[in-house]
Amino acid sequence: MEVSGMEFSTIDFPKKASTVIFLSGCNFRCSYCHNLENILKIKHSITVKEFLKRVDPLLTEAIVISGGEPTLQEEIIELAREAKDLGYLVKLDTNGTRPEIVSKILEYLDYIAIDVKCPFYKYRELTRCKENEEEIKNKILKTINLSLEAGVYVECRTTYIPKFMDSKDIEEIAKNINCNLYVIQQYDPTKAYDKRFREFPMPKREELEKLKEVAERYLTNVKIRCYW
Ligand code: SF4
Repeated sequence: MEVSGMEFSTIDFPKKASTVIFLSGCNFRCSYCHNLENILKIKHSITVKEFLKRVDPLLTEAIVISGGEPTLQEEIIELAREAKDLGYLVKLDTNGTRPEIVSKILEYLDYIAIDVKCPFYKYRELTRCKENEEEIKNKILKTINLSLEAGVYVECRTTYIPKFMDSKDIEEIAKNINCNLYVIQQYDPTKAYDKRFREFPMPKREELEKLKEVAERYLTNVKIRCYW
């Protein structure tokens, strides 16, 4: 595997202490990405066995496979399997564009967090993805639906970017998806990759609460993730 880092965390797997592995590389270039240069540049080679040897089993209840976009590296299948064999809970963080890889590790996953970054018609503008609207929609919905069918707990999440998005966009997303939990996250402009996106404001808690109400017209379990 090529990885940009690993860290101990108490927030990346709900209510569990986890070790997070960040795999290098990404197929998106999101305008708001906070760490794109490192994600693309830092590539430490490590085998699955070497990584798992570095995990402290006395402190770790869960392994979180994150990135970048971890599904670009097929070794995550072996990683998820071996982590599960060792008795860890396993979570995958993904942008949802590789259902063909996700389908191969679902049997080892307990939790999957899938980005639904914006309404599908805005994806190209926000992420510079190669897929058109229909293609990106099909891939992400396929990842969500396969995960739900497999009985994995599915969190979908959107970082709400004021001025780039509005409440109609949140409604459009909520109408299209199905999940166990939908999270609307607060946007932080300070380290956005695209300078233009540093001009957009951080939304206030009250604004996110209103968006939560909009999403709740379509989804039963909606939360906001607010840092400030
Ligand atoms: S998918 Fe995530 S890691 Fe990749 S560019 Fe977007 S925000 Fe950054």
